[in-house]
Amino acid sequence: MIEPASKPLSCLDVLDRLSDVLDGLLPADEVAQVRAHLAACDACTRFGGSVIGLVADVRQRLAVPPPVEPDFVARVLSRVPSAPRTGDDA
Ligand SMILES: [Zn+2]
Repeated sequence: MIEPASKPLSCLDVLDRLSDVLDGLLPADEVAQVRAHLAACDACTRFGGSVIGLVADVRQRLAVPPPVEPDFVARVLSRVPSAPRTGDDA
């Protein structure tokens, strides 16, 4: 069942969609609706706004690969007998 886009979201609608927004499952226009509601609704802003900000922050951190030890690649390559050598580095 598809609701008309013009129907304003209720707080329950917004909270219901929140996880989908965070998971990137909603189309951009629905995300915009949720964000518009969050911007105008104090209750949802306190709950949803902080959750979205927190999760976005965490996801951004997780998107950055953890630092690799400088000699990790060398150690891995030294254990691979048939690793192709480019010979480009001096
Ligand atoms: Zn609300």
